[in-house]
Amino acid sequence: RGTKRLVGPKTASPTCLIVSDFSTTSNLQRLAGKVAVITGAASGIGKATAEEFIKNGAKVILADIQDDLGHSVAASLGPDATYTHCDVTDESQLAAAVDLAVSRHGHLDILHSNAGIAGGLPQDDVTRLDLADFDRVMAVNARPAMAAIKHAARVMAPRGTGCVVCTASSAGVVPVPALATYSVSKSAVIAVVRAMAEPMARRGLRVNAVSPGATRTPMLLRELPRIAAVSQGMSAELTRLVDEDVDSDSVAVMLEPEDIARAAVYLASDDARYVNGHNMVVDAGYSVHKGAEKN
Ligand code: NAD
Repeated sequence: RGTKRLVGPKTASPTCLIVSDFSTTSNLQRLAGKVAVITGAASGIGKATAEEFIKNGAKVILADIQDDLGHSVAASLGPDATYTHCDVTDESQLAAAVDLAVSRHGHLDILHSNAGIAGGLPQDDVTRLDLADFDRVMAVNARPAMAAIKHAARVMAPRGTGCVVCTASSAGVVPVPALATYSVSKSAVIAVVRAMAEPMARRGLRVNAVSPGATRTPMLLRELPRIAAVSQGMSAELTRLVDEDVDSDSVAVMLEPEDIARAAVYLASDDARYVNGHNMVVDAGYSVHKGAEKN
């Protein structure tokens, strides 16, 4: 198990065998001994990431505003998971989640700033843009990325090790007109990651983004009817994805939360020790394809 015969007859000596991780990837403990805080961890991508982090040997503080759900998710993940209430729009609550990780586990290695909202649709008429909604979406999606970096660095810098992973979106790379405010907020997250990479590196720390394409989560399924009201084209595309997993008109696929979680594990692990200021897009090439279409 876990070995692959390279060359030679079946009787080859053990020196002809190399250890291969092809069949055992999921058994590797890429985050062994690490402590993580994940915001928005009661549901969707955050929940899948908490599960994947724990499988990889991490202890995880799940932070969210859905307390009942968060407690039950943490209970289902076992003793390495702890739930705490944390509204990411409130800097002091984010700071408290960071401090909880340190008081409970002695240090913090990973802060995954993942909580997010789609915002109030529709945004179909530029003259009726709702700037109160813009402020709310920026407060939940963009500002916490900066706050996460600040408070992660506060406890990580003295040890000179640690990283932040921010969930952005492929909509932050190629804007989706029907989700204009959301797209702006996610572009801001990518900009935060790029701007803060150097200040983080000066302290021996890293910050990266993971940008999912359409991912089968409660948020996406919840938003589908509202998206349909704004953009028939986008609604048809997403509905094809939900029903068929692929969109016959493009390269888009419906991602599962685990696809994003595994990218977050890589960015959070020592395998990515020199990866800093990077936006890892996980969308089967959809944004490249869309971006090319728009040029
Ligand atoms: P989700 O709704 O399943 O999960 C989001 C979680 O964030 C929820 O548990 C929610 O309670 C929490 N949350 C919302 N506001 C919060 C706040 N103020 N403080 C703390 N927690 C808060 O959605 P998801 O799809 O898993 O979204 C996770 C991240 O992925 C978001 O940043 C989202 O923008 C991003 N994303 C999702 C998709 C997709 O297609 N699902 C695509 C690209 C990016």
